Amino acid sequence: MAKTVLVSSCLLGLPTRYDGTDNYSQAVIDYLRQENLIPIPVCPEQLSGLPTPRPKCWFTKGDGEAILNHCGAICDESANNVTEAFYRAAEETCKIAEMTGSSLAILKQRSPSCGSQKIYLNEQITAGIGATAARLKRAGLKLLSEEDLEPK
Ligand code: SF4
Repeated sequence: MAKTVLVSSCLLGLPTRYDGTDNYSQAVIDYLRQENLIPIPVCPEQLSGLPTPRPKCWFTKGDGEAILNHCGAICDESANNVTEAFYRAAEETCKIAEMTGSSLAILKQRSPSCGSQKIYLNEQITAGIGATAARLKRAGLKLLSEEDLEPK
């Protein structure tokens, strides 16, 4: 039976990015077809109730692990603290992983929610994990990004 996989909805071409655009990735689509996987599109930030378009956000303290441990912070471009929304986003997305029995997630790199290896900390790209990616990893999911699937 084909397996389900959570996929950042913006990678599938859905206009869920903060600026109302998408991050369509042909490499992700090709991988899903090649592996006969059923994508479950998720946008953690929309699941948390944040609007689209929405202000750009980045970490101001720690990374996704720190958010889960209640010692990190994420702010929007107007310096509003939006940490709680990103925590909620992680929890809601994890519920979908559990509901669908997904053991793999393909997530957009560098997002404060979806980044699996890189994030923005105070507008600078740095090594770290997004809040939802960290939550899914804690739940035992394997994480891939579009960068892992693109031809080198
Ligand atoms: Fe894409 Fe994730 Fe940002 Fe939603 S939260 S737009 S799925 S990177």
